[in-house]
Amino acid sequence: MSKPKNHEFQAEIKQLMDLMIHSLYTHKDVFLRELISNSSDALDKLRFQGLTDDSLTSDEELGIRLNADPENRMLFVSDNGIGMSKEELIENLGTIARSGTKEFLQAAKASGGENAPDLIGQFGVGFYSSFMVADRVEVLTRKAGTETATHWRSSGDGTYTIEEAERETSGTTIIMHLKTVDEENGLFDYTDEFVLKSIVKKYSDFVSYPIRMKGKEEDETINSMKAIWARPRDEVTEDEYKEFYKHISHDWTDPLSHVSVKMEGAVEARSLLYIPAKAPPDLYHHEMSYHGIQLYVRQVFIMDECKDLMPRHLRFVKGVVDSEDLSLNVSREILQQDRQISAIRKFLVRKIMEELKRLKKDDGEKYLTFWSEFGPVLKEGLLAYNEKHDDIFNLMLCASSHDNATLTTLADYVERMKEGQEKIYFMVGANRSVLESSPHIEKLVSDGYEVLFFTDRVDEVWLQQPSEFDERKWQSVGQGEVDVGTAEEKEKAKIELDEKAKDYDGLLQFLQSQLDEYIKEVRLSSRLASSAACLVGDTNDMTPQMAAILREMGQEVPVVKRILELNPNHELVASLQKRFDSDGTNSDLEEMATLLYGQAILAEGGEIPDPATFSRSLATLMARAI
Ligand code: ADP
Repeated sequence: MSKPKNHEFQAEIKQLMDLMIHSLYTHKDVFLRELISNSSDALDKLRFQGLTDDSLTSDEELGIRLNADPENRMLFVSDNGIGMSKEELIENLGTIARSGTKEFLQAAKASGGENAPDLIGQFGVGFYSSFMVADRVEVLTRKAGTETATHWRSSGDGTYTIEEAERETSGTTIIMHLKTVDEENGLFDYTDEFVLKSIVKKYSDFVSYPIRMKGKEEDETINSMKAIWARPRDEVTEDEYKEFYKHISHDWTDPLSHVSVKMEGAVEARSLLYIPAKAPPDLYHHEMSYHGIQLYVRQVFIMDECKDLMPRHLRFVKGVVDSEDLSLNVSREILQQDRQISAIRKFLVRKIMEELKRLKKDDGEKYLTFWSEFGPVLKEGLLAYNEKHDDIFNLMLCASSHDNATLTTLADYVERMKEGQEKIYFMVGANRSVLESSPHIEKLVSDGYEVLFFTDRVDEVWLQQPSEFDERKWQSVGQGEVDVGTAEEKEKAKIELDEKAKDYDGLLQFLQSQLDEYIKEVRLSSRLASSAACLVGDTNDMTPQMAAILREMGQEVPVVKRILELNPNHELVASLQKRFDSDGTNSDLEEMATLLYGQAILAEGGEIPDPATFSRSLATLMARAI
């Protein structure tokens, strides 16, 4: 047998463990929930792989065992699940790949440990929570289908040892050398039968494998194993629902809401779904490792992360689906084409949308939390052809020029539309405050029209596709010519503008020649009220926001020239024209052109292509003005 080998934890793990060891988190009992959840997952995996690999099945009953050794203050949590190979052990318990870890650790550090307890709860730290209750932790594990076991040991000092070992059967045992009892700080006696039983009852009663413990006389199973979704709804307490959520989601925060539903008819299934209260840190990562939906068939676990049961724009939903009709050995490949699965999926989508609708109606505060965490994800559904866009539109909350403190629904927007207004006006940008003060909306707003502000990345994409809400089209106020007022009013405005354009012809041509590199047209506009100029895109051009998204994705995006619009009623524009008329070769005019263009970019929160030249011109002019 080889000698124990020393290994160092990845830096993030070191910090994480440090946080656990000194944790002020008061609900330390949850370490047991975390270990039992891990064991339950490991048993699920073994069962799933056993469906296709006979060599992994045995007659031994799958389960979890707690052994307490009060004399030596030790606690053992064992399972006969899938186990880990040496490499997996190093990978799983020595490194952390979870995105958001760095941010979490920084936040914990920045709060000086003060908010760390809350943060721990939000982040959830699984196995490492054992270091809240133990000074030293060992893991003895043997991967199913292999002969050798591995023994891992750490006292949380930044290193761990690994050594070849023996274990009678495959599975994993976590061995904890417990800290001294300190009930005031939430450290109870985890060798006490009663304490252990009550923790299991509280957090893990529904685990579908027996959790056994040696009682006074004999072995006892201490959990009821009752599938929570199969019990009559009024018998399940709120706390039980919450704990079940934490078990399946590995999230320590209470969910926002749950839906317990039964599908009857040609396809039968039960389902318990949850809407979390917080977005996981990796929600927008393409390969998001979400625990998502678990599939059961007649209460037998089949698989985790069953993505076929939930569309991508509802990927935040967690829960279980228990089908009456599927075969016990369905595979992922079969599921994709299974008619029953798509029927169940449709049903679940409807139920989730109904629940969101209910929250929106009955619990505005909760709904606002939901929207701020998951609104952008939900809107991704507007990109899918086979989804009901109206359902999503009806759940949408938007920032609006109507009121700068709250969000509005689309229905309320339509309700407030001015007589004769046919389209829904909107503008897309980096943030609400830039949009609120953007030149593009000045005239519209002062004329009593309302503009919606969109600031999520996904908005840029769905708004480019043709869509309607309540039979009204969308109209960007930053693109093309804005269509406002009655036909008569429009005609009148156009004649006025054409008239003025004659007076400004020289200046417009001059500016065009100066700024040719950046803009494709200079024209007068009626959309401005108090600003001198703004930039707009041509009706079908790519917006700067879209170009930025594509560039971030590593795509080559050609520079799209935009249109510079001037306000003929602005003093600056009038003075420029006068100066141009009297002294068209004046070098000030060139500087003015740069500044005019630069400030139009700044006004929409954009970046000036040549900030050094811009600020030099600005300083020169300021000096002259003083
Ligand atoms: P999480 O469970 O949230 O992924 P943990 O830190 O608790 O995070 O565990 C890390 C990984 O270690 C798990 O994803 C799993 O692959 C492995 N693991 C933990 N406990 C066990 C166990 N009892 N049996 C097999 N693998 C385990």
